[in-house]
Amino acid sequence: MNIPHYTGKSIVAHNGELDADCSIGYHCISKPMSFDHPHSHDFPEMLCFIGGNPEDITNLGAEIEFTLGDEKHVINTTAVVSIPSGLQHCPIVFTKVAKPLVFLEVSLTRIWKPAGPPPPKKKPVKKQLK
Ligand SMILES: [Zn+2]
Repeated sequence: MNIPHYTGKSIVAHNGELDADCSIGYHCISKPMSFDHPHSHDFPEMLCFIGGNPEDITNLGAEIEFTLGDEKHVINTTAVVSIPSGLQHCPIVFTKVAKPLVFLEVSLTRIWKPAGPPPPKKKPVKKQLK
């Protein structure tokens, strides 16, 4: 499937498709983007940032600012972030993307959905051209 804010094809099983207490999302990122809405959920979630070259997945080729609780972390190598139940996370900002990478999310829940109210609707953004 194509998901608008991702920059490639995605494989998503968030609604019980795996018939297991697990959901996944496999996404390709090829340009800077962000997830802005801080949220938590009542299940653990593992977020994997993996270099897109299958012959060298350790070369991430990107820089990501990741907010976990009150801490901001910078990820610039292939990494897995394991988020326990209830810990607030995001924004996640892909600040530099030199080459495509894989963003894989694995959650220990049959149905993926964040706790709390849905994120506010985004307003259209007018960008100034240089
Ligand atoms: Zn989450």
